[in-house]
Amino acid sequence: MPDEIINAPVQKKLFPLCLATKDLNHPASIKTYISIGGYEALKKILTDKISPSDLLEEIKLSGLRGRGGAGFPTGLKWSFMPKNAKGEKYLVCNSDEGEPGTFKDRDIIRYNPHQIIEGMIIGAYIMDATVGFNYIHGEIWNEYLSFGEALNQARQAGLLGKNILNSDFSFELHAVHGYGAYICGEETALIESIEGKKGQPRFKPPFPATYGIYGKPTCVNNTETFASIPWIIRHGGQAFNDLGVANSGGTKIFSVSGHISNPGNYEIQMGMPFSELLDLAGGVWKGHKLKAVIPGGPSTALVPAHTIMQATMDYDGLSKIGSSLGAGSMIVMDETTCMVNTLKRLSYFFYEESCGQCTPCREGTGWVYRIVKRIVDGQGRLDDLNLLKDVSQKISGRTICALGDAAAVPVLSFIKHFEVEFEYFIRHGKSMIESLND
Ligand code: SF4
Repeated sequence: MPDEIINAPVQKKLFPLCLATKDLNHPASIKTYISIGGYEALKKILTDKISPSDLLEEIKLSGLRGRGGAGFPTGLKWSFMPKNAKGEKYLVCNSDEGEPGTFKDRDIIRYNPHQIIEGMIIGAYIMDATVGFNYIHGEIWNEYLSFGEALNQARQAGLLGKNILNSDFSFELHAVHGYGAYICGEETALIESIEGKKGQPRFKPPFPATYGIYGKPTCVNNTETFASIPWIIRHGGQAFNDLGVANSGGTKIFSVSGHISNPGNYEIQMGMPFSELLDLAGGVWKGHKLKAVIPGGPSTALVPAHTIMQATMDYDGLSKIGSSLGAGSMIVMDETTCMVNTLKRLSYFFYEESCGQCTPCREGTGWVYRIVKRIVDGQGRLDDLNLLKDVSQKISGRTICALGDAAAVPVLSFIKHFEVEFEYFIRHGKSMIESLND
């Protein structure tokens, strides 16, 4: 066989794994989930008494990485939970997606809640956790209610509570309605919020694995991460890994929004070229040209069209072009987008969502917003661009949590790739895009 065929990349496709029930009748019901093999993994574990350590090895083999943005290997994170700690251990599902352009977790809850529940029960079995919470973003009430219904169905089927499926394993799971603040998606702020306090990040260390909810060992993972677990156990870690590419096992949901013909959630095998994902979503709307893309959410670096067209949608593919996969919230911008106005909107988001604990973040995000606003208001100064870079660099790496770093990313990447547009706005007091259309 010729070398080019042997080395040809495997075709990556749409692969509804976490959204497996989405197109079925009554997708969220336990009956539908069971009809596609749901809860089989859990039954097998409890019937065959598979050891938690063997299951953990399978998770490690799968190459699954946290789908909330950080991309930390899930198996490794689970191995940090202490084995012989006294008292409760907690498991938390982080469904607090609040960044602009993120809307995948609500769809998993809406269409396939039992896969999250089964993933959490398996996670609890592996980490010996007794109580779990799904912390659902405060702005999505209906999903909070529907997740509660799914929990009731699971309880009635003997899948939650004491002696699950007549085994000696017990686990209780609760839905928690969040407070609507973006920062509550940071795992330690989320823990504070579950404890009934103001959702503000804690200093780390200690990390939640040793000091989490009420000071007890706690593991927090994203909704999509938990929803991947049953498939991994049913089909094997290697099979999941093989769906993706090196360092990026499995599938990933990309929430595609912005100037796109068919916005929505696309669950694909990791490693699909960006151009194919763009085609799946119908291409740039109205026949316009692509200008730039934020591939993983506003806390990931903006990428201009000519660069993103070379990329593959996986951790390494996006890191090679200077950005990152984040939570997979892909915002598409067409040729009519004014980058200065867009940065103003994003910088306002981070300014408004800063919890205020750290001076660089609290003050810096305000400075960034006000400087970009003054440019948009036609009162910019040429040295504003250096000032924006300087303020952003002084926020980055000097804060308690990653919101500070996240706030700096759009500023630096927007100016890096579209400095000419910023300079034009400052010199002419109006947008270059508006001027082109005059
Ligand atoms: Fe709060 Fe910002 Fe500090 Fe995070 S970085 S703890 S959001 S002030």
